[in-house]
Amino acid sequence: MTLTESTMRADAPAFDPESIETFRQSLRGALLGPGDDGYDAARQVWNAMIDRRPALIAQCAGVADVLAAVAFARDNDLLVAVRGGGHNITGAAVCDGGLMIDLSPMKGIRVDPDARTVRAEAGVTWGELDHETQAFGLAATGGTVSTTGIGGLSLGGGFGWLARKHGVVCDNLLAADVVTADGRFLRVSADEHPDLFWGLRGGGGNFGIVTSFEYRLHPVGPTILAGPLFHPLDAAPGLFRAFRDAAASAPDALGGMAALLTSPEGMPLAALVPVFCGPLDDGEDAVRPLRAFGAPLADMLGPMPYRTMQALFDGAFPAGRRNYWKSGYMRDLDDAAIAIMVDHFSRAPSPYAGIGIELYGGATNRTAPGDTAFPHRDYQFNMLIFTAWDDPADDRANIEWARQFWRALRPFLADGVYVNYLGDAADGGRDQIRAAYGPDYERLVALKRAYDPANLFRMNQNIAPA
Ligand SMILES: Cc1cc2nc3c(=O)[nH]c(=O)nc-3n(C[C@H](O)[C@H](O)[C@H](O)COP(=O)(O)OP(=O)(O)OC[C@H]3O[C@@H](n4cnc5c(N)ncnc54)[C@H](O)[C@@H]3O)c2cc1C
Repeated sequence: MTLTESTMRADAPAFDPESIETFRQSLRGALLGPGDDGYDAARQVWNAMIDRRPALIAQCAGVADVLAAVAFARDNDLLVAVRGGGHNITGAAVCDGGLMIDLSPMKGIRVDPDARTVRAEAGVTWGELDHETQAFGLAATGGTVSTTGIGGLSLGGGFGWLARKHGVVCDNLLAADVVTADGRFLRVSADEHPDLFWGLRGGGGNFGIVTSFEYRLHPVGPTILAGPLFHPLDAAPGLFRAFRDAAASAPDALGGMAALLTSPEGMPLAALVPVFCGPLDDGEDAVRPLRAFGAPLADMLGPMPYRTMQALFDGAFPAGRRNYWKSGYMRDLDDAAIAIMVDHFSRAPSPYAGIGIELYGGATNRTAPGDTAFPHRDYQFNMLIFTAWDDPADDRANIEWARQFWRALRPFLADGVYVNYLGDAADGGRDQIRAAYGPDYERLVALKRAYDPANLFRMNQNIAPA
């Protein structure tokens, strides 16, 4: 395997290919290049729109490998991509040319049941974390699909069913181990490098590679009251109004989502997904206003294991389809916005297309905006338009549908957008980065200058140091 010019930045110095062998021998994990067994599997990410070919993939087995990979990339002026769970819609986890630093083999998890904390390495997924923590009746706020990585999700903020009760994921981050661009290994917490600790909670992967995360845990389940209520699409306006009205007075323990989607049999549906993480009897009271609406086609709301709920939507969002998203926060769910949602959804070009309205509020809004780099503390809902398809010939129809849908909803959206749902620079992502980081942007730029002035970590929603 040889590195070519295309693997390096345009201004890169001459490169000695023999050092690849030295690099390989310095790793406990594998070093893969084009043609090696496992290379094609390792470069695949969740979104099949992304088809990039790194010159090298370092499959890190631990911190020593990450230190070696960062040093190798820096010494050879290589473009760097960092992969956690590989779920980011932009495919930032993989680069063309350059070095992909793949953290996915790093799977260590240790729960401290007495302290109610967990430390997990950066390759862990939420399903794996839930598996370990639920053995002790505990959980961290995680994502709503269990195959998503803890890395990217936590660093961008992190919404999950527990967010209204316990805050977003980064609100529950207690500490992190970080490899910086200049090769230092830092333990980061409220007491150690507090500036960096602030930036890691919302600022994405801009400041270094987190090798492990320590989270605060909460007693959850193991049985909770949760599950979807499916109604016919023509019930959507009334159902969404019921969701909006119930949200205004819902207890923090009630999280959830409203959605328009298509059943596997091809029937367009309106759905509510209440998730109550508290005593089951209290849950029945909390979901009563949502249950009272209309006559659902299917009622799957009942006691279920928390881990079942955490994985309930995995099948709806499989890896390997082509995917496109548009999103934005909302302070309210206007009747006119609901009408637009129903109208555009009715013209969806794919059975895998839809819209989800995540319920924020509660504890998500009780952390002051400046306390973390996740600034979105004033919204009740987060809206996500999603579509997925298999045939590249359908790219245009799906992307255009999502864009038109988003443009129609634009008057009802707040300025803020969730960094982890944002498209890439070519898709207007660049313009929205400031909206994603909000009033923290200048402080994040100063932090970037302090920890990564050469912008080694730039395959992300990038905070440019200059
Ligand atoms: C099916 C699906 C469901 C989702 N559900 C939710 C949800 O419920 N709630 C929610 O908040 N978000 C959700 N998301 C969005 C999710 O937060 C982002 O896609 C996130 O980037 C995924 O993290 P990852 O580690 O899997 O991704 P990756 O693509 O591996 O990582 C994304 C980027 O994060 C950075 N990064 C990752 N790990 C590290 C690390 N250890 N150190 C430094 N930088 C790192 C890198 O810049 C990397 O390019 C979902 C996404 C998908 C595809």
